[in-house]
Amino acid sequence: MSAVRVVSIVGNRPQFVKAAPLSRALRLRAEERLVHSGQHYDPALADLFFDELDIPEPDENLGIGPGTPLGQLAAMVTGLERVLADHPPDVVLVYGDTTTTLAGALAARKLGHPLAHVEAGLRSFAPSMPEEQNRVVTDHLSQLLFCPTDTAVDNLAREGIEAGVFRVGDVMFDASLLFAEAAAARPGPERWDLRPGEYLLVTIHRAAATDTPEALRALVEVLRALDRPAVFPMHPRTRAKLESAGLFGELDAIPDLTIVPPIGYLDFSRALRDARAVVTDSGGVQKEAFFARVPCVTVREETEWVETVESGFNRLTGLDPERVRAALADLSIPAEQPTFYGDGRASEEIAEALATWWDSRPTSGG
Ligand code: UDP
Repeated sequence: MSAVRVVSIVGNRPQFVKAAPLSRALRLRAEERLVHSGQHYDPALADLFFDELDIPEPDENLGIGPGTPLGQLAAMVTGLERVLADHPPDVVLVYGDTTTTLAGALAARKLGHPLAHVEAGLRSFAPSMPEEQNRVVTDHLSQLLFCPTDTAVDNLAREGIEAGVFRVGDVMFDASLLFAEAAAARPGPERWDLRPGEYLLVTIHRAAATDTPEALRALVEVLRALDRPAVFPMHPRTRAKLESAGLFGELDAIPDLTIVPPIGYLDFSRALRDARAVVTDSGGVQKEAFFARVPCVTVREETEWVETVESGFNRLTGLDPERVRAALADLSIPAEQPTFYGDGRASEEIAEALATWWDSRPTSGG
């Protein structure tokens, strides 16, 4: 029996992290072609991840690069039409909630290919959030939906999606286990003149924090509200927006704030492990803080990773300096940590489910 032919589509930093464990697992059970949309093209957000996480070289790179979300979406869909015609897959696999995810989903279904979504069922219930739009559309187009949590399964059921749903656990948890040892061997926070357990690790880059002058002003005020030394590996998008608003210079005046370019996954994992707390608007980082048992302050009003908040490991503050200050004043977390995100075998379970799905398909004349 022939192995299932999977075309996996990635394009952004968090998708590279997710592809690292899943690509390994898939290649034991399936024939995978990896397509990179080129949405993240900065070497610090892309190439570095392929190298250090040992992700297979992409078979195709669409080289999309910068542009408006719709311009990028159109270019990706056009590129994918060619790629999928050249090498027709048995199933197209997409990750998460980015423009690359949506492009992969649209291209797959318009060309009649089955679609598999990794990180299905997440909802922030913020309909204007670009990621929420991408998730909802992708889930409703998918035949195979791989959910990280019970909440995700429930969200899909509420929208009438029950067939093809698998509760497999979280591939980012797999990645955190897979790379724990390599991360521990990376340089500690002394490289920034910081001491373990005494600093905050900051990442902020979502549109809601960077796309209006008011949001950028609030972001600066949040950074001023931090009550201890902090290191901020700044996403190029955040930096560009602060610079063009003329606000970047104000950050120099904030004592004990160290701004560095984005760092690799292993360095970031190490920095996270040693932090007193994380201040973030990243989806993946909220979970990684939970995995590492590091308190998290999320500068958003809502999260799709509700379990981290309900269990007391994460606090939602919005981009509000007063609420951030209050959250930082009490960083206590529970002694017991529930297991919401599976057992570190999500990638194997996805590979297995795809292989089983393919082997048990109805064949004509069979
Ligand atoms: N990350 C990284 N270097 C950094 C900041 C984040 O490697 O300087 C990693 C982080 O460990 C996580 C992923 O990038 O695995 C999260 O990506 P991002 O915040 O861009 O996306 P989101 O998860 O919000 O979609």
